[in-house]
Amino acid sequence: MGSPPSCFLKQITIIEIKIFMILFISCILYETNICSSDSLDTLTVPPRSNSTNILSSLETLPLDGYFSFENNHHAARDFGNMYHFLPSAVLHPKSVPDISTTIRHIFQMGSASELTVAARGRAHSLQGQAQAHQGIVISMESLQALEMQVHTGEMPYVEVSGGELWINILHETLKHGLAPKSWTDYLHLTVGGTLSNAGISGQAFRHGPQIDNIYQLEVVTGKGEVVTCSEKQNNDLFHAVLGGLGQFGIITRARISLELAPKMARVKWIRVLYSEFSIFSKDQEHLISSENTFDYVEGFVIINRTGLLNNWGSSFSPKDPLQAREFSSDGRTLYCLEMVKYFNPDETKTMNQITENLLSKLSYIPSTLFHSEVSYAEFLDRVHVSEKKLQAKGLWEVPHPWLNLLIPKSTISDFAKEVFGNIVMETSNGPILIYPVNQSKWNNKTSLVTPDEDVFYLVAFLSSAVPYSTGTDGLEHILTKNKRILDFCATAQLGMKQYLPHYNTREEWQTHFGSLWKVFLQRKSAYDPWAILAPGQRIFQKAIRTS
Ligand SMILES: Cc1cc2nc3c(=O)[nH]c(=O)nc-3n(C[C@H](O)[C@H](O)[C@H](O)COP(=O)(O)OP(=O)(O)OC[C@H]3O[C@@H](n4cnc5c(N)ncnc54)[C@H](O)[C@@H]3O)c2cc1C
Repeated sequence: MGSPPSCFLKQITIIEIKIFMILFISCILYETNICSSDSLDTLTVPPRSNSTNILSSLETLPLDGYFSFENNHHAARDFGNMYHFLPSAVLHPKSVPDISTTIRHIFQMGSASELTVAARGRAHSLQGQAQAHQGIVISMESLQALEMQVHTGEMPYVEVSGGELWINILHETLKHGLAPKSWTDYLHLTVGGTLSNAGISGQAFRHGPQIDNIYQLEVVTGKGEVVTCSEKQNNDLFHAVLGGLGQFGIITRARISLELAPKMARVKWIRVLYSEFSIFSKDQEHLISSENTFDYVEGFVIINRTGLLNNWGSSFSPKDPLQAREFSSDGRTLYCLEMVKYFNPDETKTMNQITENLLSKLSYIPSTLFHSEVSYAEFLDRVHVSEKKLQAKGLWEVPHPWLNLLIPKSTISDFAKEVFGNIVMETSNGPILIYPVNQSKWNNKTSLVTPDEDVFYLVAFLSSAVPYSTGTDGLEHILTKNKRILDFCATAQLGMKQYLPHYNTREEWQTHFGSLWKVFLQRKSAYDPWAILAPGQRIFQKAIRTS
């Protein structure tokens, strides 16, 4: 074998030095205390003065879309309505190259620039995760490069833009008698936003979360490279990005697996009540472990309510109205098991037999069986109905100090005893969802962190705060209650993991990721070495050259 020519060696040495420098700075980045310790409930950070040169260099980029440098206050807001970071610019991309050109430009500036980039779906984040203080926010909904393409056949799928809304995917795929398998409770969220977290709902016990129902992604990394990835191609990036909190790349396209949707698309929607948590959870666990079971299983906690049908809407009717009228909750804490069976109208009889059979194995309070029948699309889009009502009353844009937890099956009764029996016994500030899922249906190669048990529960405290209130419905009170719940989980060592996680220190992030932390760091160093992406998650901080 001959030796390489000396100019080639020189080139390799320069590349090696460059890579070393990047890795070196990445190491500093990991050793710095990367997270701010702000403990403010509502955090508004004014813009820092950014280098005019750097910003004006953005204007020289050849783009199909455009940057806006003014009137960007909307990009400093999210659903949580507690954190407000004003960006320096908002990119409205019209093509994938718009995104890669912008990120490559910032990547090439290296540590000379403090610019970071946050993809913004619908900003349904809770604590500023889709914001970029003095950085660039990319409005993913502007990315209209890709029409939705539905592919029928043995393994049907739909190919969509990362900024597409799940509600649009539902309507488009239904035209072909198909639909995604796994959903979120609310569909006015973007594909890129939910795939950066997980996308969990009542179908996840059977199909896994949305991140486990993806065939392929197109991603723009933190170096500005456009990479196609899947289980078979660039699989490390594929797994990194799914549940990766936006840390490794911007999802510009996704290929989502589909299943046959009910032809005339109807659903039987059932709710039953329990007064004992142990019986309620036993029944939930039974349903998610059965073969021929419901298509959706969720549940929620009812705290201090007197009217049984509060907020259930007029569409639910009791199976036995006489008995139901006699049932009184007396302000007790109750647990509602919610189940759904999809069916075609010509299969109504069979569907009724199946549901009767499934219900006969459950131990709910007999007088509390309520049911409803709605279209498949109506069921999936159910939260939008509440959204419209709340918006009309001006109650959608209040602070939302939500807390989402994943609790192992082995500790869920300890959790329920202390949390439902003590911490939130008197009042709840919004719905509290609780339902189990099967770990075996979830892919453990993604960046999502879950408890290490075969079955774990999602518990979601979906609180709304009354602005400026100092009472039990105020932000401070709810945040204190959330902290009590988190402290209890830690002290009692319940093995809890946060979903849609939010932490203030690197130690907390490290604990959250546990053994995955090392892999997470390696992937960050490989795909976003300058820590440009998703700064609002507050996991990493961009290393800046100060002299
Ligand atoms: C009413 C309501 C109901 C919800 N119900 C559920 C539910 O049932 N199940 C569930 O799992 N979640 C649920 N969520 C949470 C939801 O999944 C998250 O809010 C998620 O962030 C999606 O919102 P978004 O599309 O607006 O993303 P954003 O909030 O805009 O972004 C979320 C994160 O992803 C990053 N990001 C956004 N787009 C991309 C992209 N294309 N590529 C890479 N990174 C990106 C952002 O930078 C940010 O860090 C609900 C939220 C709300 C408000």
